[in-house]
Amino acid sequence: MDCIRIRNLEVFGHHGVYEEENKLGQKFVVCADIFVDLRTAGLNDEMSQSINYGDICMFMNDFMRENTYYLIEAAAEQMARALLLKFDKVLSIRLTIKKPWAPIGLPLEEVAVQIERGWHDVYIGLGSNMGDKKDYIVEAVKRMGQDDDIRIIEKSSLIKTKPYGKTDQPDFLNGVVHIKTIYTPSELLVCMNELETLAGRKREEHWGPRTLDLDILFYDDLMIDSKDLTIPHYDIKNRDFVLKPLCELAPWLRHPVSKKTVREMLDELSAK
Ligand code: ATP
Ligand code: CA
Ligand code: CA
Repeated sequence: MDCIRIRNLEVFGHHGVYEEENKLGQKFVVCADIFVDLRTAGLNDEMSQSINYGDICMFMNDFMRENTYYLIEAAAEQMARALLLKFDKVLSIRLTIKKPWAPIGLPLEEVAVQIERGWHDVYIGLGSNMGDKKDYIVEAVKRMGQDDDIRIIEKSSLIKTKPYGKTDQPDFLNGVVHIKTIYTPSELLVCMNELETLAGRKREEHWGPRTLDLDILFYDDLMIDSKDLTIPHYDIKNRDFVLKPLCELAPWLRHPVSKKTVREMLDELSAK
């Protein structure tokens, strides 16, 4: 992937677990690989289509100076996030913070932390079959958009559907939203659960009526199976109330396990 590389930018900061470090400060050295699509800037020789690396250096210099953390882990984490939020075109970042004068009382050339952070493509399934269904869904998407760590990319239309699994309950309204997020999958699950709680969701019976249900359908092409989280969502291929809105947004999207596209899954389900 295209990348702007910044090597060994010397900055001053007060990060450290010792009081002396916080008081006196010391030199830190920062390296950043900024992943960004440089094709159009390269073809058009046009600054506005790239990212000014001078601006990035200045931003990192100021960030390291103006904020103080005990750990360079925290400095790296917060600075990576700040860069992702500040510079729109940045897809992901590999950030290294070195501490050449780490006070450990032993001869040491340098100690460093390195992290990679970026925006992830996620599709969220939306559902409601209680109260003002549309309002619950619209409000939840609005709240997602108000979270700095989430960007709304595209919303499907909302469709009225018959209940699935447990059929003696009111009809549903369903849709899908495509977002980009810097949350990890488990952080995103917590965030979705909080939105459900805000909508007054009560977990009383499995597949029972709900004000709001937010399922993580896809997260990049990640595959996870853990106690609390299965990604992709385990039952996408059997649910037309998921596949139909998903097909509006991304018919070409391929399931990382079955390798079938959304369009293929929907066609197969419709043929049953
Ligand atoms: P279904 O998952 O069959 O659509 P449901 O949405 O009604 O059923 P919930 O009661 O909302 O089920 O969720 C039960 C648990 O599922 C959640 O607490 C969560 O930990 C877990 N879960 C596993 N994978 C996912 C996922 N991809 N998205 C959302 N929740 C998930
Ligand atoms: Ca669900
Ligand atoms: Ca759910």
